[in-house]
Amino acid sequence: MKLLVTGGAGFIGSAVVRHAVGQGHELVNLDALTYAACLDNVAAVADSPLYAFELADIRDRSALDRVFQQHAPEAVIHLAAESHVDRSIDGPGDFVETNITGTYNLLEAARSHWEGQGRPEGFRFHHVSTDEVYGSLGPTGKFTEETPYDPRSPYSASKASSDHLVRAWHETYGLPVVLTNCSNNYGPYHFPEKLIPVVILNALAGKDLPIYGDGSNVRDWLFVEDHADALLTVLTKGPVGRSYNIGGENELSNLALVRTLCGVLDELRPRESGSYADQITFVADRPGHDARYAIDPTRIREELGWRPSVTVEEGLRRTVQWYLDNESWWRALLDRKGVGQRLGTGMA
Ligand code: NAD
Repeated sequence: MKLLVTGGAGFIGSAVVRHAVGQGHELVNLDALTYAACLDNVAAVADSPLYAFELADIRDRSALDRVFQQHAPEAVIHLAAESHVDRSIDGPGDFVETNITGTYNLLEAARSHWEGQGRPEGFRFHHVSTDEVYGSLGPTGKFTEETPYDPRSPYSASKASSDHLVRAWHETYGLPVVLTNCSNNYGPYHFPEKLIPVVILNALAGKDLPIYGDGSNVRDWLFVEDHADALLTVLTKGPVGRSYNIGGENELSNLALVRTLCGVLDELRPRESGSYADQITFVADRPGHDARYAIDPTRIREELGWRPSVTVEEGLRRTVQWYLDNESWWRALLDRKGVGQRLGTGMA
């Protein structure tokens, strides 16, 4: 298949790019290279004859039309987005422009291309979204694909809006779409503003390990390589119009997660004395911090036969080892705007 992947220089997009090229797909990576991007993430495939890169912004419709015309993709996997909840609290405008208007532009460019090609049945527009659109759970229950949307942060509201647009383009214009809503990803190439890389890098630097609130917020953790595999499974096997939740089957509170990371670090790179857990500190909570997310993975498991391949313990060990082995990758990102600062307190 000839794929157009948006956001392929980001964390998850680059995993999709590496995985898809590895599977023999021809691929165009479209990315505006924002603060969150890093082309080193796709260095492993950059010289492949299957791979091309297009510097373009999804807010620019004419740039999108040119890319569709030039590359004539058979499917789109749309991951380009502003992705950090804390940044969405300080500056929601970028989230509305990229995640909502940008997705609208991409849908229109894809529709125009698809109609121009005679509406091929095999075409797919795959929208990659988040479980955060469903809001917050109490101590029990899980999100299914039928859970009503109840987004609560500017980020999740912008993703919910884009999900609705994608469904509407299917219902109204017949565009062949599939959607996925996944839980929190982690793994190699995770930008150092998100919890897991922040904890690993602060631990190594002897700094505090900040935990929002009391650390009781629960997330389901999905290894990014598993997510990339799930996305290609849904793209190639999912029926048109269907949406799938993707989870790691690994629920952990933030405090338990950070303690597990400290345990792995204690083993792989022991401190001179004591444990990395001694560096844990509790900081003011994120405004509107959702208490718990949990995914019911029944649909993707039963319909497409997909399950995650690693446990969170295994995935975290691989992730810590990757950061220990790839210092030049993360060190180069530490001076990007906002990295290392507390964002999203609602006080900006
Ligand atoms: P990321 O921030 O690491 O990467 C986003 C990429 O999109 C970057 O390469 C950036 O340059 C690009 N981009 C941003 N704005 C753009 C624009 N206007 N035009 C073109 N490119 C643009 O994000 P990620 O964590 O890899 O997330 C990818 C997708 O998966 C997002 O849509 C996000 O909402 C979704 N998602 C992420 C998670 C997670 O845990 N990270 C969970 C669920 C869903």
